[in-house]
Amino acid sequence: MDYYSSQISRLIEQLSALPGIGSKTAQRLAFHIVNMPVDQAEALSTAIIEAKKNVRYCKQCCTMTDAPLCPICSNPKRDQRTIMVVENTRDLAAYEKTGKYEGVYHVLHGAISPMLGIGPSDIRLKELMQRLQGEVDEVIIATNSSLEGETTAMYISKLIKPTGIRVTRIASGVPVGGDLEYIDEVTLLRALEGRVEL
Ligand code: ZN
Repeated sequence: MDYYSSQISRLIEQLSALPGIGSKTAQRLAFHIVNMPVDQAEALSTAIIEAKKNVRYCKQCCTMTDAPLCPICSNPKRDQRTIMVVENTRDLAAYEKTGKYEGVYHVLHGAISPMLGIGPSDIRLKELMQRLQGEVDEVIIATNSSLEGETTAMYISKLIKPTGIRVTRIASGVPVGGDLEYIDEVTLLRALEGRVEL
């Protein structure tokens, strides 16, 4: 099966291990990279290494960033008393793109899924509860409308209710099973504006 030199094979193997990259795409990318000017290939590999070395979790909202506090948490114009809970950094980016949300976020890095054996302690829930000991007016739960997202929303609302903090859930304008990152901005805003009390 050695059609290619071992180094190209190794590159194809590495690329095809990435999510969403099948073997054909991996081959196409590998040949594209090999044909790149050296400085461009170096820029690509440096970007990967630098991102890997420097990206960490924001100590407040747990999103991925390269500073102790992410740009949203450290922005004095953001309303620190309103926290939107999302499953991942891509969902945060989707809401940021609307440019209309002025609060801050909390990124769970996953959702509760008994089927996959993902429990409450496997996502960043403890960190959220710690944040709620500060001054918080509202927690907006914006997990996906999948089974896992709904399970997570119910779980979080039950945890927060006794604290007396307002808990809301984004409206179901977001289609069932819909991944937030694929939904257009108008729908996202409508879902946010139409949020309901839990
Ligand atoms: Zn942050």
